[in-house]
Amino acid sequence: MMALTNEEIRKVITPLLLSGAKMLDKHCPKCGAPMFEKDGRVFCPLCEYREQKKRQEMKGIEDILMKKIRYLVNNLPEDLEELERYLDIIEKLIRILEHYKKLEG
Ligand SMILES: [Zn+2]
Repeated sequence: MMALTNEEIRKVITPLLLSGAKMLDKHCPKCGAPMFEKDGRVFCPLCEYREQKKRQEMKGIEDILMKKIRYLVNNLPEDLEELERYLDIIEKLIRILEHYKKLEG
């Protein structure tokens, strides 16, 4: 069973309990945390929280990459050799961006 961090208890479990969600006698098969039920929905709050956190991190990385790509595209040099170098870098950045988008699902 994966241990819950203090942060997770504070940010996930406590607010859930306060919101009237019911802690079930079942454990998440994925992470071992107690499952909850609220409004007829049974879920693992920890997996949802971690998933959401991961998505936010991914989004942050995507934003940085997008900003960089946009900057390069807006500042393409006149010199052809330089231009080729820029396009090369842009292509690589786009590939990395697509990689992250895929991970995000
Ligand atoms: Zn879980």
